Amino acid sequence: MILAIARSLLDFVYPRVCGGCGGAADPSGGHWCWDCRRSIELITEHYCSRCGDPICGEADYPFVCSTCGNNTVYFDLARSAARYRGPVRNAIHEFKYHAGLHMLSDLADLMVAAVRSHYARLPLDIVTCVPLHDAKLRERGFNQAELLAVRVGRRLHIPAWPGALIRVRKTGTQTDLTAARRRRNVAGAFGSGRASWIRGRSFLLVDDVMTTGATVNECAKTLKQAGAWRVYVVTVARG
Ligand SMILES: [Zn+2]
Ligand SMILES: [Zn+2]
Repeated sequence: MILAIARSLLDFVYPRVCGGCGGAADPSGGHWCWDCRRSIELITEHYCSRCGDPICGEADYPFVCSTCGNNTVYFDLARSAARYRGPVRNAIHEFKYHAGLHMLSDLADLMVAAVRSHYARLPLDIVTCVPLHDAKLRERGFNQAELLAVRVGRRLHIPAWPGALIRVRKTGTQTDLTAARRRRNVAGAFGSGRASWIRGRSFLLVDDVMTTGATVNECAKTLKQAGAWRVYVVTVARG
């Protein structure tokens, strides 16, 4: 009761806005309105058993997509909470490019649910994230993947160590590149933190969006080369 009164007072002073559409957020909490919340396309079935890339339609057998079949995949599994469309896409844009840090908790909630449903029985020792180059970090002011990793670690009671990976080379944007060019673009872009903390450990690697998987794969390769035992990827969205 007291919490509900406090929330409505806060809403009066600082109205919560929906990250999906910019309208008023649902009064019960969070930063989605009801229409946006119900239109989030969660990825729950029919995806590549390795990288989690969803397909339209049915598949009643486990399958591996052509990207995983034709390339060396260094991560053990990758899963994403939702499709990179509609409200989730808008919310990630708001979070990442307009410093919409109020979306952090809602986006982390999606990831936590994905980890619990896909990785519940797996040993996860450390949460880490895709690093940003220092120049990009200065420009943006924060690393969205690091904020997500820290929040997810706290929610799942797993220590977060963003410094397990460092970006040693600045890379151009991946947005307009083909899958092969994306792989070349990120090759050798990452280095690893203290090897004795990595060796033998199982990592949960966090990023906001996964498209072809070239970036997380290069991160996983770097961690594996430093001795990581397992690397499981989770992202908010899958493009
Ligand atoms: Zn909305
Ligand atoms: Zn795949």
